[in-house]
Amino acid sequence: MRDAVDPLIDAVREDVIGWRRHLHANPELSFQEHETAAFVADRLAEIDGVEVSRPTETGVVGRLVGGRPGPTLAIRADLDALPIVEATGLPFASTREGVMHACGHDGHTSILLGATTVLAGLRDELPGELRLIFQPGEETLPGGAEALVAAGAMDGVDAVIGLHLWAPDPVDTLVVRPGRLMAACDVFRIVVQGRGGHIGIPQDAIDPIAIGAQVVTALQHIVSREVDPLEPAIVGVTGFHAGDSIGVIPQTAVITGGTNAFSPAVQELFERRIGEIATAVCAAHGATCSYEWTPGYRAVLNDEELTARVASIATELFGADAVRSGTPLMVGEDFSAYAQLAPSCFVMLGAGNVERGITFEHHHPRFDVDEGALDHGVRLFVHSALELLSSLPTRAKELAR
Ligand code: MN
Repeated sequence: MRDAVDPLIDAVREDVIGWRRHLHANPELSFQEHETAAFVADRLAEIDGVEVSRPTETGVVGRLVGGRPGPTLAIRADLDALPIVEATGLPFASTREGVMHACGHDGHTSILLGATTVLAGLRDELPGELRLIFQPGEETLPGGAEALVAAGAMDGVDAVIGLHLWAPDPVDTLVVRPGRLMAACDVFRIVVQGRGGHIGIPQDAIDPIAIGAQVVTALQHIVSREVDPLEPAIVGVTGFHAGDSIGVIPQTAVITGGTNAFSPAVQELFERRIGEIATAVCAAHGATCSYEWTPGYRAVLNDEELTARVASIATELFGADAVRSGTPLMVGEDFSAYAQLAPSCFVMLGAGNVERGITFEHHHPRFDVDEGALDHGVRLFVHSALELLSSLPTRAKELAR
């Protein structure tokens, strides 16, 4: 089948770039991807043999059932953009002030549309089923994945793969890493309740800013003194809001932040200790504290066996020098929601290019990707699908054992 594949991939290349530019120019925030989802559903509907469903408001799932029996492979892309004012100056820059595809999800969506087009052209020879998951809201908790999973997007799936364009890495390279790839992330909110008063009469007030500042400092103690130094862990305070007049000690200070870790034990430690420390520091100074902990995404842990197979497919496609096992990343990804239900492999696909000035980090106003990576993504998905559909054990077979 391989010889039949490359011309199909070549044929879709310009479309994929065009779709990416269209989506890039028309970004939508998490859970507001109405036009994006409609665009995806329309493109899928144009592809012969793809059944389209809309299980959540802005989620789209395609099914491509092959001409022969076999396993079910899910491939996932994400649809959402970020609240950032784009400063790339690209001819297809965002037309929506304050919204930008600054993480490459426009590319992920286009790559999966391209791969679907190619694989649909091979449908008769294809064993099993492809489940094409286009999810909303990757950038914002609770994430779009859980709702799609709850709606049945992963029912009967034997394995799931996905990719992230990764601009810190050069285009023409990719990271296929077994085990720990991306960290779990959770968020917290602390409200320090003091007593407001006059800046000149501090003895009659309870200053939530001074107390909150001690809370922020004390929280850093957890990672430095309570976590195994060989275990990756982050406590980040990213919000501190209090006060709006120089002469006034405010009533409250609100501290918000997030944590990242791979170990569930570290996640539990964070949940417990952040609350204990904040409460105790507040109590020491006569303030009270309310504490909320919200679980976020689980860690992305790639299945060893599936990942070894994707790595060998990638090596065959791009050469041994292009494929690395990389190092774990501390950022979160709700791809992990799918990975709870089937063996999974998430790939970081290099999309940076120093010579072309594509060097800005993800979520930066000048973030961009080298569009050469789009073709690599299509090739990786198409060849992985062909290979895995002909060789994956199916759930039905496992159950029969
Ligand atoms: Mn992302």
